[in-house]
Formats: sequence, structure tokens, C-alpha cells
Amino acid sequence: MEYSNYWKRTTSWQRQRDSLCTFSLETDVVIIGAGIAGLSAAWWLNQQGTSSVILEKEEIASGATGNSAGMLSLGGHLDYSVLAEDFGISAAKEIYDLTKESFFLLKQVIQKYKLDCRLEQPGSLYIASKASHRKIIEREYKTQKELGIPCEFLDQNDLRKIININSAFAAVRCLEDGAVNPLKLCQQLADLLEQKGVRIFEKSQVQHIGREDNKVLLHTRHGVVIARVCFIMADGYFPLCGFKDRKLKKSKIIYSLATAPLSRGMKSVIGWQGKEIAWNSEELYDYFRVLPDDRIIFGTSTEQQNPIIPEEVLSRNRFYLIFPQLQKLDIQYCWGGMVGVRDSPFPFVGRLDKGIWGSGGYNGEGILMGFLAGKLLSEAFLKKKRIPPSLKPH
Ligand SMILES: Cc1cc2nc3c(=O)[nH]c(=O)nc-3n(C[C@H](O)[C@H](O)[C@H](O)COP(=O)(O)OP(=O)(O)OC[C@H]3O[C@@H](n4cnc5c(N)ncnc54)[C@H](O)[C@@H]3O)c2cc1C
Repeated sequence: MEYSNYWKRTTSWQRQRDSLCTFSLETDVVIIGAGIAGLSAAWWLNQQGTSSVILEKEEIASGATGNSAGMLSLGGHLDYSVLAEDFGISAAKEIYDLTKESFFLLKQVIQKYKLDCRLEQPGSLYIASKASHRKIIEREYKTQKELGIPCEFLDQNDLRKIININSAFAAVRCLEDGAVNPLKLCQQLADLLEQKGVRIFEKSQVQHIGREDNKVLLHTRHGVVIARVCFIMADGYFPLCGFKDRKLKKSKIIYSLATAPLSRGMKSVIGWQGKEIAWNSEELYDYFRVLPDDRIIFGTSTEQQNPIIPEEVLSRNRFYLIFPQLQKLDIQYCWGGMVGVRDSPFPFVGRLDKGIWGSGGYNGEGILMGFLAGKLLSEAFLKKKRIPPSLKPH
């Protein structure tokens, strides 16, 4: 097994970008972070004729985005039924609507510019992994129907026709969820942005944010960018940017694993006909899907806060519990990343301080929300367009 990121190992090499080493670069907006949220912000600013510069500590998508499992699931990290109960049905509806809008916009960009990032929309299964969890699934189905979400209820027999695993007692099948290769998506978006004149600097960690007159000055080791405003788009890496936000409670490390390719025999044993994304009712980060090269990608988490502990992750990993028939299938890749976790089911998007805007806190489900955050932030800054109150940072 390689303790490395599957996407990086299997995505062809991309050119590296320069680091910032000039002292007088001026722009309208300087963006910290080249994950999905930072790239999206640059995209929507560019669409509105506003210049931006992106400063990235490492490389394009080297934070959570390029380490994610690439699932484009509508909704948030909580079940709609839990959201409705704890925060009201309107909050559940709002999260669904926001992520649906984001999927629509992202799909439009991918299709219009022919970004080769393996976008799929196979739908998802939310599986009751214990007989007693059938109730959770029934409740979830009822709430999704109430919200007008296209979905179906599958009892155990229906479900076994799609995926033959022991711990599968019922499921809600959601027809709208999708998936993408997150690293390719970001690399291609970055190339497109550069063609449109956006400057992206890698290996350019922002060390200090200063102010002079009405401008912000972002200092990296070898250079400074001067801008009207700074967007901090760093989700779980946010505290490292030197800006403290009390509402962003903590960062959490979560992991993904990728197996060796399934043989034809293994595929028929688990009978996975479709390519649905699957979620397990037992653990929040137990999710899995089959990749285009027939590997299974599997999410997992640990309470440890050290990214360099794959043995710990593996010993706790639930893959072989869920797929006991696949004991002989090797796990070949394991990698992790940091995500921003909040008490609120909503991320924060908005103005944080004078000249400083930002977003983050996607609770481990930020590809769609991050893409939308870039749009909302740029429109709020440029057109004073209102950000939904539920997303406001303070
Ligand atoms: C293992 C794993 C699996 C996941 N699976 C999914 C999934 O399937 N679906 C989903 O929707 N979400 C998933 N997530 C969550 C999702 O990846 C994140 O919510 C989302 O990518 C956040 O995007 P972002 O652009 O805000 O942050 P990031 O992608 O983390 O980008 C922030 C960037 O800021 C840079 N940065 C930080 N500090 C500085 C600095 N001082 N100067 C310059 N640059 C800096 C970082 O290097 C980083 O590249 C997963 C996350 C992980 C870790």
C-alpha cells in the first residue's frame, strides 16, 4: 500500500507554477488558497471583469479539495431529517437549494469549457447498515419527499439487487448526486483561469496580512501583493492563515482509501451494477464509490489529529467490515486532508473584517458549497448582492 493520494498518482503531471517574488503586484482581489473555493472566487470575479491573484501555499488543490473523495452530494453533512428536526425544515430546504444551484453552475462550467474531470451523475444510496437503522432511512426518505427531492425508497430486496453487502437493510436512492475527479477539476479550472489572465502563484504561503490606506498587503516569503480586498478561501487550513474566527470551531482530519481494481469476479460478488455513491448510516464519513478504473474509494475518519498515521486509520478502517467478501482486495492508497468543522450546518461566507472576506467550515462536504461560496462572495463584494443570512460569518 502507498500512503499517497490516488488522484495525484494517477493524474498526469501538470506544470508547476512560479512562486510570488515581486514586491509591487497590484490587483483588485487577492485570494488565499487554490482549492475549489479559491478557484471559484477567481472564476466569478473574472466573469464580472475583476482582476484577481491567487496565492497558494503548496500546489493547486493540495488542501482538502485534491484530497477529497470527489463526491458531489447535495445537502450537507447532516441528514435532511436531522436538519429539519434541529434547525427547521426551511434550513434543510435551503441547504438542498444551495447545493443544487452549485451543482448546476459547476456542471455548466465543466460542460461549456469541456473540462476533462470525469464528471458523473450516477445518484447515491444512503444505506441502513443495521436493521434498526431502517427507521432512520424511512424518516430520511419522508423528509426528502417533503422537500421535493427526487428520490426512491429501496427495501432490502431492492437494494440487494444493486449492491450485495451484508450490512444493507434499506436505502434512500437520491437521483441527483454526482462525482468528479477533484484534482483534475481544479487543475483544469486553474489552466482556464490563467488563460483568462488570472495569475496563480504556487509555493507562496501568505505569512502576514497588513493594511495601508484602503489597501490590503499580503506578504509571502519573497513578495507582496497589494489589493483592494483579500478573500481567505482556506477552509480547514484557515487558522494557518493567521486570521482567527471564533465561529470556525476546529479543523478535523479525514481520510480516503482506494483499493486495487475490482476483478470481474469481485464485482459480481458484490453485485454493484451501478456507480452510485454510497453512504452508510453507521458512521458519518463511511462513504464509498467505484472509480472509473474499478477501484473502490472509501472515506474514513479518526479522532487522531495527525495526518501521518495511516496504520491507525487502517486498523480502524471499516472497509472490510462493510465488504467482508473483499478481504483479499488490497488497499493501495491512503491519504488525508484537513476540513473546517462548525457547530452550524451552514458554512460561513462573507466579510470578516475591514478588507478581509472569506468562507469555510463546510463540515467535510465542501466541493459544492465551496464552489458556490466563491460565487456568493464575489457577487457580494462587487455588486453588494445579499448573502443568505444563514451563511453570514457573524
Ligand atoms: C479525505 C477527504 C475527503 C473528502 N471528501 C469529500 C467529498 O467527497 N465531497 C465533498 O463535497 N467534500 C469532501 N471533502 C471536503 C472538501 O474537500 C472540502 O470541504 C473542500 O474541498 C474545501 O475547499 P476549499 O477550497 O475551501 O479548501 P481547500 O481545498 O483546503 O483549499 C485551501 C487551500 O488554501 C491553502 N492555504 C492554506 N493556508 C495558506 C496560506 N497561509 N497561504 C496560501 N495558501 C494557503 C491550502 O494549501 C489549500 O490548498 C473531503 C475532504 C477530505 C480531507
